[in-house]
Amino acid sequence: MTVAMRLIPSIDRLLAEATRRGLSYPREEVLAALREAAQACRRLLCAEHEVEDPSEWILNLAQSLLDLLFEPSLCRVINATGVILHTNLGRAILAPEVINAVSKSAAAYSNLELDLTTGERGSRHAHVDKLLCRLTGAEAALVVNNCAAAVLLVLDELARGREVLVSRGELIEIGGAFRLPDVVRASGARLVEVGTTNKTRVSDYEAALGSSSSLLLKSHRSNFHMRGFTEEVDVATLARLGARFGLPVAMDLGSGLLLDLKPYGIDGEPTVQDMVAQGAGIVCFSGDKLLGGPQAGVIVGRRELVARCRKNPLMRALRIDKLTLAGLEATLRLYLSPDTVVSRIPTLRMLTSTDVVLRNRAQELQQRLTVAVGPAARVVVESGTSQMGGGTMADCALATFGVAVTPFRIPIHVWEARLRRMRPAVVCRLWRDALWLDVRTLQAQDSVHLEEAFRKVVQSG
Ligand SMILES: *Cc1c(COP(=O)(O)O)cnc(C)c1O
Repeated sequence: MTVAMRLIPSIDRLLAEATRRGLSYPREEVLAALREAAQACRRLLCAEHEVEDPSEWILNLAQSLLDLLFEPSLCRVINATGVILHTNLGRAILAPEVINAVSKSAAAYSNLELDLTTGERGSRHAHVDKLLCRLTGAEAALVVNNCAAAVLLVLDELARGREVLVSRGELIEIGGAFRLPDVVRASGARLVEVGTTNKTRVSDYEAALGSSSSLLLKSHRSNFHMRGFTEEVDVATLARLGARFGLPVAMDLGSGLLLDLKPYGIDGEPTVQDMVAQGAGIVCFSGDKLLGGPQAGVIVGRRELVARCRKNPLMRALRIDKLTLAGLEATLRLYLSPDTVVSRIPTLRMLTSTDVVLRNRAQELQQRLTVAVGPAARVVVESGTSQMGGGTMADCALATFGVAVTPFRIPIHVWEARLRRMRPAVVCRLWRDALWLDVRTLQAQDSVHLEEAFRKVVQSG
């Protein structure tokens, strides 16, 4: 054993060899990697494994460790899943104008909290609140880190130590451990459940009202649907009840749709404007769902309620950062031009892609991939369904076109894994014994990368 151990060169000699080979990483990191690799080699030799050339083995391992350390972990993914707001893939991608605004805000100082007219301290919210009010019809607006933070802040300010009434049919869970009863508890408010799972009437709310009631909370069932013997109370009715008892209605809307999608044949998702018009005192929504902007939480509503939230001590912990704010502002500004907003915002563009466009793109992709895989697989255009994803529009299946690739000799999960490990990574679905690539969520240039990726997949045997 000791003889074997003596085969491991000293770290100095390994370092010299690494330098000779032109390993171009910072010296301290190279040393750390060599030590770790030498240690791994020592363990193998102690366990009486054969290592043919320990020096070579250590240098190779150190190289891999260093490559891994210096390679960006967050990397580009080609989304061929057809899920437009894939939470695991980062939800909304941004419009070019928005990317430009984010990068400008990153590269230079800005008037983030300085009023350039008066020279006095300003508010970061000032950059978006006029826009938000204009677009939603609300009196005031506030932005935080995400919608979960918005709901927490609203509950903390308007219901801490008091009762908040929620229908049993709306005690929702959104992915990533956002469960409404837990959020209510975390805010220090007391949850009063109203009605039953499938039916809640206005009389149920009325019966549950007491001297300690502070807020009527409604949440949008954004990631599931209830059908059959059901009844719920709409915001307008709830607002009228609240007005009689001096209680505000808060709506946890989630998605933040600002544009009526009915002309595009997409129905059933409420808009923020509609909630405000119906009399919700507060509406909370996400920046990176149907709004199509960066991750953010928006609170719009009545002036005095929003003003209270703004002064809440949690505000500092939940505040939006300047890059996000720049992105949100630029996104909202696109909504000022209703004629072009759908074509500018990628989320809306993908959502409203027409059959003809999707079919053409699928045919173009099929041709490219057929050439790339040659006789190794069958490549056909197929129709299928895309989803909104991101916990929005659970009931909405969008007819789409895609390309199904079936390798002849290699199991599809092997190809799926190879595609996932490429850079850019390719993420697709396994469907009906094929790799299914939905063209709806592909971006310009993606088909060129896909062709190259499939070529490599075939080459690797
Ligand atoms: C998505 C969603 C949330 C959470 O929003 P994030 O921006 O992801 O924090 C909260 N409530 C509803 C109804 C949602 O759909």
